[in-house]
Amino acid sequence: MAGGKCVALIAHDEKKDAMADFARRNQHILAKFRIVATGTTGGRVLAVCPDLDVTRLKSGPLGGDQQIGALIATGEIDVLIFYVDPLTPMPHDVDVKALMRLAIVYDIPMALNEATAERLITTL
Ligand code: PGA
Repeated sequence: MAGGKCVALIAHDEKKDAMADFARRNQHILAKFRIVATGTTGGRVLAVCPDLDVTRLKSGPLGGDQQIGALIATGEIDVLIFYVDPLTPMPHDVDVKALMRLAIVYDIPMALNEATAERLITTL
């Protein structure tokens, strides 16, 4: 991917409204970064912030989380904002775990809920 810092955005289905809100409110900060997102999340973010530089990957259950994990492993992601839904069983649970694991391995700042995301974004 081209240069510049990169923020990864993912939101599980029950959290997508909150993610779209987060992107809209923090649009002025996100505009300074390249953004990669899982497919549906990226679509929701672009719907509210059409001017952001968003690259949409596969949908999470179809490999999008793994694609973001691979980008972390190759040093292309600087921040991960991941709105996790802890109350719904998911077919790609193992991918979610693998992604979090890589973010820890590579020591990537990672927000897994809204309260942390709001704080993390102000540090960018
Ligand atoms: P989605 O993927 O943005 O394509 O819905 C997110 C996920 O469920 O991991």
